[in-house]
Amino acid sequence: MPIIAELLKLTILAGVAIAGILAVLIWKKNLTARVTYLRFWIQITSVITIFYIYSVLNQLLFLLAGVFIMTIFLGRFFCGWFCPFGFYMDLITQVRRVFKRRYRKLPVKINGVLNRLRYGFLVFFLLAPLIFSSTNTWLWPYALTLSGPFRPLLVLLSPLEPLIIPWASPISVSGVNISYPYASDFAFYLGENLELIAIFTFIILTIIASLFVRRFWCRFCPTGISLAVVNRFKGFKWLPFVYLYKVEEKCTKCGICERVCPVQVTEVYEQKGGKINTSMCLNCFRCVEMCPYESCLKVNLAGKTLFKSRNWLEPAKTE
Ligand code: SF4
Ligand code: SF4
Ligand code: SF4
Repeated sequence: MPIIAELLKLTILAGVAIAGILAVLIWKKNLTARVTYLRFWIQITSVITIFYIYSVLNQLLFLLAGVFIMTIFLGRFFCGWFCPFGFYMDLITQVRRVFKRRYRKLPVKINGVLNRLRYGFLVFFLLAPLIFSSTNTWLWPYALTLSGPFRPLLVLLSPLEPLIIPWASPISVSGVNISYPYASDFAFYLGENLELIAIFTFIILTIIASLFVRRFWCRFCPTGISLAVVNRFKGFKWLPFVYLYKVEEKCTKCGICERVCPVQVTEVYEQKGGKINTSMCLNCFRCVEMCPYESCLKVNLAGKTLFKSRNWLEPAKTE
């Protein structure tokens, strides 16, 4: 076990070092087409790092607090670059690409309704346990099951669960404890008889749904919605250091940014230039990578351009 821990540490250090070198290369050379690869690398490193944090940190709520504080400064960068569940869905998208299957876009109206409903989901996940547990009615036994110690906050931690966890899990293969987001919640709510059925149903449903609709669960996820609320809070609007910026004069309304966005954000396309304001954006920067006009979209970090879109329609000129 100490050897595995040391190997993990080395992997994390190597991962962070390589990701850092790539980030500098992108920043220096503006190789925007490499953002997707860089993001994948950071996502892999993040899953390993989170496993390591889970192994050494007893109070995982500190991890959640860290994610919320990060969102104040970087917007939903966590969702785009670090979230393990987001990473699994991105992997499924890659599988779909290998098989050359087209993804489906949710109709704009349905997507809009879902966006509004997500606040209802959040209220349910966060408040229902508290309301039920303070009401002494026939619901009481169910309320106790639903609330549990810190249950609403543990639900928010669920998408962060790495595939292998350092504690007992309902799914164990050759002594390795496997997990999947929300598996521990199913185990908590449903007890031994139903937990495995619920977990496997959820796994199959999210995999199938993600094959058709990119970042499927991100449209319902209570953690992502909470982060979106932090992002929306007007008092913090001036704070996020990382944000998207559009130069209206360079936009030809080609619509590529809207098509490639994994969560169907429309503001980059629709907004008339300037800082892009939307709580839905995951800061994945896929739109910047794919916008085919030089310097039309930019990722700004503390007012400075970190990288920008490039003209990939014309071959690069040789000097
Ligand atoms: S919305 Fe939820 S599942 Fe999606 S990336 Fe954010 S935290 Fe992860
Ligand atoms: S991809 Fe770029 S040029 Fe095309 S609509 Fe979006 S911002 Fe405008
Ligand atoms: S708007 Fe751009 S950066 Fe935001 S989620 Fe969509 S593709 Fe990613």
